[in-house]
Amino acid sequence: MTSHQKRLLCLLCVLSASVVNCFSLDREAFSVTNYDLKLQVEPEQHRLGARGKITLRNDTSTPQKVAVLQISSSLDWRSIKAGDKTLQFVTQPYTSDIDHTGSLSEAIVTLPQAVAPKGTIELEIGYEGVVALDATRLTRIGLPEDAAENTDWDQIDARFTALRGAGYVTWYPIATEVANLSEGDSLFEVLARWKQREASARMHVQIGLSLDGAVPQPELLVNNPSCHVLYEAMGGAQHISADCSYESLHRDTPTFVIANYKFLEKPVIDVHYLSGHDVAATTLADAADKIAPFISQWFGPQREKPKTADLPDPSAAPFESGGLLLTPLTDTDSKQAGLAAAHQLTHASFLSFRPWIEEGLAHFAQALYLEQQGGRQAALDYMGRHRATLGQIDTLEASPSADDAANGSLVNTTSEELYRSKAMYVWWMLRDMVGDAALKKALAAYRPEQDNDPSYMPKLIAAQAKRDLGWFFDDWIYHDHGLPDFKIQSAFSQKTASSTFMVTVTVDNLGTAGAEVPFTVKFAGGEVTKRMEVRAKSKGVMRVEMPAAPAEIVVNDGSVPEKNVTNNSFKIESEK
Ligand SMILES: [Zn+2]
Repeated sequence: MTSHQKRLLCLLCVLSASVVNCFSLDREAFSVTNYDLKLQVEPEQHRLGARGKITLRNDTSTPQKVAVLQISSSLDWRSIKAGDKTLQFVTQPYTSDIDHTGSLSEAIVTLPQAVAPKGTIELEIGYEGVVALDATRLTRIGLPEDAAENTDWDQIDARFTALRGAGYVTWYPIATEVANLSEGDSLFEVLARWKQREASARMHVQIGLSLDGAVPQPELLVNNPSCHVLYEAMGGAQHISADCSYESLHRDTPTFVIANYKFLEKPVIDVHYLSGHDVAATTLADAADKIAPFISQWFGPQREKPKTADLPDPSAAPFESGGLLLTPLTDTDSKQAGLAAAHQLTHASFLSFRPWIEEGLAHFAQALYLEQQGGRQAALDYMGRHRATLGQIDTLEASPSADDAANGSLVNTTSEELYRSKAMYVWWMLRDMVGDAALKKALAAYRPEQDNDPSYMPKLIAAQAKRDLGWFFDDWIYHDHGLPDFKIQSAFSQKTASSTFMVTVTVDNLGTAGAEVPFTVKFAGGEVTKRMEVRAKSKGVMRVEMPAAPAEIVVNDGSVPEKNVTNNSFKIESEK
């Protein structure tokens, strides 16, 4: 289509007042740089009313006369003004999986004048509606209703209210192209792009609710440490209000919860739990208390006090944002509580907007915790449970193209399996290679505000390591080179003059990523473990002295994620 045809089509769209098919509508032309919103929540009515001001910035290189604003499909636009002028806008449903309902209420607004590139315009907006439990976006792609509602549990209800922002419930206006859950990473990509555009966006939000004084007073929790929450009783009514300012929407999705919580306070964590969950709440708080010194040794002192809040559905998927973790508090097992606490306390100490660092380290902390409790094997077993998903990824992309290799890299990926599971292994391998002290120093030197380049963290580690790690960063962090595949090619044993045995081990790496891998030589009555660096598609050779005749060699104790572990052991025919 030529640009003339596009213009014509657009004109036709406007003339027929049906902009649905207007090809040239650029939904991502504007981003919101500032929100100043007043929200009134009525839990009994499942209702939400919002009014306030937003500032839009033209991110394109051409003047824009039309802006698109989207809210959840269960909310309706009431008014859009610029200054005193009421603006004309057309509303339409827009199918997109960025919202739990699978659809958005889109307002296509004709601005009073074209906004120049990089120019801004302030709009006064009003919208309202109900937010009920709705998992349409998941059920329509075939998820059973129960499972879908375990993921999309947001709702406004007298018993329990939870609203997560963009990506869950669009309770504040956004502007995005369609996200489709049946198309691979579409939702993650649309959301990541939106968050990137909102990197410097600020939000000031006031949340208010009024309740009948007769009902027990609920608690209002927001995922922002700056919030001032006020509880007032006036006549027969209670008023609860929160006043919060988000400095950046890049990392935290504005989220709030209203429920009748009980409260458990420890110096390192606040636990808000529902009636009947006292034991689980105490178990978590105690675990956090115990593990906090260990976590701060690794990841530094707490930046903010973490809060855990209970979800009423015991199967609900946990959600974390900033210092707030929403999770069903039903588990009374102290090991599980320790794992959860290790993750959350790491987030409270270590801040990064790069998921492979932020989430990778929080999962790495869980492995460290298990190692501290039950030794190295306990940590490796835990990591092994993550390895299944990595194996699947690796077979899917057996020969990644140059593009895939960059897109699937830890620094660019939007895939949770990579920035959680693979990143956890990467941190563990780095720690095995450089040692605890060096890695702790590198982490302590990290300043999120100075992280302007993907190489920032690798350089901090390289500065503490007494060896070249460029090849490792290339294979595991900057590119997705898949996984290694180690095979013991040969092992020759010789008796020495002093009656010990010298075994020469050759390890072949058939895979496309290199690693430093441990190997263990077993003999009657003991074993010796050494480490060997074996680059991708290369061999490594090492000579190991043994007190007795070696019987078997096993490469990789599970600390390096690997494609194929069936070729990792080797029986030795010794010279007597
Ligand atoms: Zn996390």
